[in-house]
Amino acid sequence: MLKLEQVEIVVIGAGPGGYAAAFRAADLGKKVVLIDRDPELGGVCLNRGCIPSKALLHISKAIGETNHLAKLGVSYNDPTIDINRVREHKNGIVKKLNNGIAQMAAGRKVKTIQGAASFLSNNRIQIKTGAASRTVEFDKCIIAAGSTSSMIPGVPKNHPSLLTSKTALELESIPERLLVVGGGVIGLELGQVYAALGAAVSVVEFLPNLIPEADTDLVKPLHQKLKKQFESILLSSKVSSIEPVKDSRLKVVIENKKGKTTDSYDKVLIAVGRKPNSHLLNLKVTDIEIDDKSFIKVDMYQRTTAKNIFAIGDISGNPMLAHKATHEGKVAAEVASGHPSAMDVRAIPSVVYTDPEVAWAGLTETNAKKNKIEYEKGEFPWAASGRAIAIGARQGKTKLLFDPETKQILGIGIVGPSAGDIISEGVLAIEMGADSMDIGLSVHPHPTLGETIGLAAEAFEGTITDLYVPKK
Ligand code: NAD
Repeated sequence: MLKLEQVEIVVIGAGPGGYAAAFRAADLGKKVVLIDRDPELGGVCLNRGCIPSKALLHISKAIGETNHLAKLGVSYNDPTIDINRVREHKNGIVKKLNNGIAQMAAGRKVKTIQGAASFLSNNRIQIKTGAASRTVEFDKCIIAAGSTSSMIPGVPKNHPSLLTSKTALELESIPERLLVVGGGVIGLELGQVYAALGAAVSVVEFLPNLIPEADTDLVKPLHQKLKKQFESILLSSKVSSIEPVKDSRLKVVIENKKGKTTDSYDKVLIAVGRKPNSHLLNLKVTDIEIDDKSFIKVDMYQRTTAKNIFAIGDISGNPMLAHKATHEGKVAAEVASGHPSAMDVRAIPSVVYTDPEVAWAGLTETNAKKNKIEYEKGEFPWAASGRAIAIGARQGKTKLLFDPETKQILGIGIVGPSAGDIISEGVLAIEMGADSMDIGLSVHPHPTLGETIGLAAEAFEGTITDLYVPKK
């Protein structure tokens, strides 16, 4: 027997996009229901993505720093790793944040329902929780149902040694040999965690560069470091088969220009991208349209082609980033609540939280060249930064791309520790339409890594005194 409930706004998915949307709509006075398949709120980002990976990356970075200290005359013994305590530490952080979101939902009187939602029509959804089912009728719906790890064809299904980012973060054990398929964000972040915890890590990347969407000069210092930390990095290579062998190991065939090689690994992590969860929602009974990559089509107000239904986050297009989802969630909640709002941003920052971090926002040189966009560049090498030298980060770099005519900043790229934190100044500069003089004349604190942004602008302006640039 179906029970019918009526709400003003229903939000499907309680990740950083969905809960932001639900909370913003509730703050604007709407009666909101927030649904998630998981028992815990927070979505992939909190439960098996951004947050647990950062808890583990903190540990791997600290181990790396003690290794670096040995060169400075301060030595420690090799770390003893209690994997159970590491896992408990990570789970504790996630739990604390889960509770925080649940409290914020309760405070706002947002009703949360655990269950899998699918559409019955343009204004009804069904929610299945175990064997039970209920129907909710809504005025407006915000879909924030996220994405799932992509798989490569022909790999054994549900094999215990085949990991996705989700199972890799469960940290069941540390394999002796780990193969990471995909040299993108997830592959390198988790590869570095497992390497620091003692695994011999190899990476296979299909394209000629690691993190292919980032500029190669920014990836280079990371690549150099990974060459020392990983057993091997194979570029322009693809995995052509993965087969189970004895002792739950996996035999992997890798192909590249030189031919085929076969090797076996204790675990294989597949990190070849993510796909939107649009296929889980029975969209065919609605007026919602999807594109050729299965993303739900939306306009700048996050409205789908069904006029009362919105979509945000990973399910509505790239980049699949939590902070993009949060912004879109707020826009959808505001528009759905009758307020003027639109997703109108100039730059969404990308950060790879490896050691060193790689971060970029706005125009990249790769994109500028591909799309024949004119630009000029100001760069500051961290080898000339006293702070960077003091913390062993002289391979870092900050670069700014400017419009050749207006000198307005178009893009920023940084590699080095804390790149993901200091990039925000560049994002603000892009949003505010700042030019090279605005940035160069802003007083930056010394000695900081953040001042490299001001120094890159000064290098562009020709006013820098921290570098000697011979006159042309
Ligand atoms: P990704 O797109 O960053 O990287 C996947 C890589 O796999 C690419 O370099 C691609 O060329 C390669 N690849 C694809 N097929 C391959 C094959 N058959 N063999 C070898 N290589 C292959 O995807 P991801 O690392 O899986 O991350 C998924 C999504 O999650 C991304 O959209 C990412 O932005 C997001 N994410 C972001 C962060 C962050 O912001 N720090 C962290 C984790 C995940």
